[in-house]
Amino acid sequence: MAKIGINIATGSLQKEEMIVGIDLGTTNSLIAIIHPESREATILKEVDGMGKGAGALVPSVIHFQETGSAEVGELAKDYLVADPGNTIFSAKRLMGKSFNDIRDHAGFFSYKIIDENPESLVKVQVGNKFYSPIDLSSIILKELKQRAEHILKTPVNKAVITVPAYFNDAQRQATRDAGKLAGLEVLRIINEPTAASLAYGLGLDRNEQKTIAVYDLGGGTFDISILRITDGVFEVLSTHGDTYLGGDDFDRAIMDYWVSSNQLDATELNSNPSDMQSARLAAERAKKQLSKGEHFETMVDGRRLSIDKSTFEGLIEGLINRTLDSCKLALKDAGLKITEIDAIVMVGGSTRVPYVKKAVTGFFGREVNDSLNPDEVVALGAAIQADILAGNNRDFLLLDITPLSLGIETSGGLMDVLIPRNSKIPTRAARQYTTQVDGQAGMRISVFQGERDLVQHNRKLAEFILSGIPGMPAGLAKVEISFMIDADGILTVRAKELRSGVEQSIEVKPQYGLTDADVERMLSDSITHAESDIQARALGEARNEGEQLLKTTERFLQKNSAHLTHQELLDTAHAMQALQLSLTMEDKNLILEKHTALNEISKPYAERIMDEAVASAMKGKSI
Ligand code: AMP
Repeated sequence: MAKIGINIATGSLQKEEMIVGIDLGTTNSLIAIIHPESREATILKEVDGMGKGAGALVPSVIHFQETGSAEVGELAKDYLVADPGNTIFSAKRLMGKSFNDIRDHAGFFSYKIIDENPESLVKVQVGNKFYSPIDLSSIILKELKQRAEHILKTPVNKAVITVPAYFNDAQRQATRDAGKLAGLEVLRIINEPTAASLAYGLGLDRNEQKTIAVYDLGGGTFDISILRITDGVFEVLSTHGDTYLGGDDFDRAIMDYWVSSNQLDATELNSNPSDMQSARLAAERAKKQLSKGEHFETMVDGRRLSIDKSTFEGLIEGLINRTLDSCKLALKDAGLKITEIDAIVMVGGSTRVPYVKKAVTGFFGREVNDSLNPDEVVALGAAIQADILAGNNRDFLLLDITPLSLGIETSGGLMDVLIPRNSKIPTRAARQYTTQVDGQAGMRISVFQGERDLVQHNRKLAEFILSGIPGMPAGLAKVEISFMIDADGILTVRAKELRSGVEQSIEVKPQYGLTDADVERMLSDSITHAESDIQARALGEARNEGEQLLKTTERFLQKNSAHLTHQELLDTAHAMQALQLSLTMEDKNLILEKHTALNEISKPYAERIMDEAVASAMKGKSI
């Protein structure tokens, strides 16, 4: 059995290499790996703090100093109030966006967003420098890479990065580019809900069929995604949400309550940003405290601030109901009933609020998965995916799509696609073919990868011969060719003659492969050559049909020449000769013309003979 390499995605990887999983979040970012010894997904945490605090969560905040140098994370977060114009937060919200896209929320950002060309991608101005959201994300990713290298004491060059399920191609590409700029090879961009499900082990069993709802309520965004896992492939059935709804709104609700209950003074707050900031921090502390206890009380700038749990729940009820409305819409879009959801996964720091958990459990009518740290699940899942890609976990699935079409060569050198590009794997496709010549005993099956119409421009992956087809007239054999790509990206091509059961197969294994550049070139070639390919395909098809007609006519004459007049025989021979000759030339129209001519000559006598046959059959005789 021949084994030939195709690269379903990015090529095979060396086992020793450490690939990290990165949750590049709106508020916080995190890195995780599979621990080489325990084999557990583990969040990378600073051991000695690197002078940057020992937390695992890295705030997705950048502070630009006057010198132009940037600090990222906890240190930068301190400047949100002190130096808002030079401190960038929520850069993820700007990914792949134009000013027009964010116009309604421009007030949300305290830094300068350029609106000169509202149609083109946004830029942020800091001092006299301009940064694209890709630049900004790359600064965060560079910091994460450095931290990972510091902790792991080894270079980190490859990563899996997560994005929200609703990110479009431009936003995904922007994330990929940010990784590249940070010196990371981004092996895969995966959906955050997919990663979260993986962290709970959902989808790791290849035979599993499950429908999962992933409820993600963070600091500033909410989304709900409905996923279906079939044979290890994750499909996003629907997604809904509100990109400006999250735990920050809970904090604001608490502050508003303190103002309305005269515990805080609105005028004082508005005139003093640092008072506002301490009130906001107190509100966040209150919220977190109420996730554990029934009551919160503190002193801030000489004022006593308090709130109890039931008051807090009353304040956020409306916000939570909005998230449940999104859940209803997501179910509707997916065409599912609540009872069809098999599992619910909780993601995001705000799902720690007991009222949120209670509301979601009540809505879906079943227990939710919340045993893991909701801030960490996405990064943990990304690490699991990274480990699968590293080839360390062969038992697990590979979630992927085929980057190029796969097919076989049919007569005339044409590419017949069985599995189109971008098909999810694992996948299967089959089609029937037949023999071209009477008594044909073997059939050559050549497997190609690529987008061009003629196989000569595509990449040959494998070839084998199905032999032992029993003697039959041309067109009678039924050869089924099936392509199967399993979850590891291994393609098996099988050919079976259905009448006789003769069978042959070949496995095409991912050992070496195409680089991303190869794939890109093959795709761009198919676009550049689209016009000439259409012509080549048309010529190929005209030739095939011409040959077919010659064969049918020949067979017809062998059986029926006695019923034809001398003139008819002569005209037919001439027309056949002309068609035969046209097949050797590169002129599709000429072939079609000769094809039509032969058809017109043979049509009258073919009909006459058919009529005679019918008539004699009616008399009980056969011819
Ligand atoms: P994320 O964007 O997923 O990092 O979520 C951050 C949000 O979770 C912030 O609004 C936090 O205030 C909130 N959060 C973190 N811990 C808790 C907690 N124990 N109780 C309530 N909210 C929390």
